[in-house]
Amino acid sequence: MSLRVHPVLFLSIPRLQRIVSARMRLLVLGSGAGGGVPQWNCRCPNCTQAREERDLPFSKNVFRHTQASIALREAGEPWLLVNASPDLCSQFARQAELAPPEGAMRASPLAAVALTDGQIDHATGLLFLREGTELTLVCTDPVWKSLGSSFPIVSVLRHFLPVNRLSYPAQVGSLLLEALPLRAGPAPYEAPSGESGHVVALRVTGKKSGGCVVYAPGLPEISSELADFVAGSDCLLVDGTFWSEEELAPMSRERRRSILGSHLPISGPGGTLEWLAKLPIPQKLYVHINNTNPILDPGSPPAKEVKEAGVGIAYDGMLLSLYSPHS
Ligand SMILES: [Zn+2]
Repeated sequence: MSLRVHPVLFLSIPRLQRIVSARMRLLVLGSGAGGGVPQWNCRCPNCTQAREERDLPFSKNVFRHTQASIALREAGEPWLLVNASPDLCSQFARQAELAPPEGAMRASPLAAVALTDGQIDHATGLLFLREGTELTLVCTDPVWKSLGSSFPIVSVLRHFLPVNRLSYPAQVGSLLLEALPLRAGPAPYEAPSGESGHVVALRVTGKKSGGCVVYAPGLPEISSELADFVAGSDCLLVDGTFWSEEELAPMSRERRRSILGSHLPISGPGGTLEWLAKLPIPQKLYVHINNTNPILDPGSPPAKEVKEAGVGIAYDGMLLSLYSPHS
């Protein structure tokens, strides 16, 4: 539980109402890595369990995770979607929060889509927004270039609707979006490039609520720049792709090297759990969790270790309210 809850007990009713109504909302649409859980061609224990529980309602099947994406909004404003997963249509269908606003037969619940990279599991869902009247995309230069060339999603979308682009830092309604380029190269289908910004960590700050969220679903390293970037945030969602390198054993050496270059494991010295455990941030969550990761089983020793370190495991449909008591 956040220590920031306690000051609320001493507030007047009008101040309390203002804080409750002015909170930033964060909705986890999907918490799995590329392929989700179950992945169509995988018989690992997590995928098998997710398949066995397929008749349970989605909220009761703890093993099932669609591909990672979150949405954020300030009170009274449309949503900012962060990454557009290939599961976008089913994610929107399940969330009443993402229903189109009342008043017209067709209206978008989205103000914009921000991307942390332009890869398949974070950009493919853009194609399913083609029914809209226009799309605002926030991304870095290398991602914008990629989506117009080697993975030409924007080129395709422009046959259906205008696509406007903003670069970081950007203002979307009352949300300020800032990006920290990470040391990760281009996607495998792109030409090698020394350009930075293929993958970023995203920080979203709400002007109304004062709430601040950092989302980093692909984290190749923990740097001093990253430590500065996350400092003072209310909620940090971090790459939980792998527990350890052992999960990559069945893959080819080349694929292993490429994945490890993009995703730091959770466990062990230098892993993300060691770092997160020491961070004085009220909400710390793993997201973008691969189907092979043992933390997906709530009864597993790794899941317990994560919990004991004060870090949560994001799940599909998780809804958080954030505010800064100093705003
Ligand atoms: Zn699996």
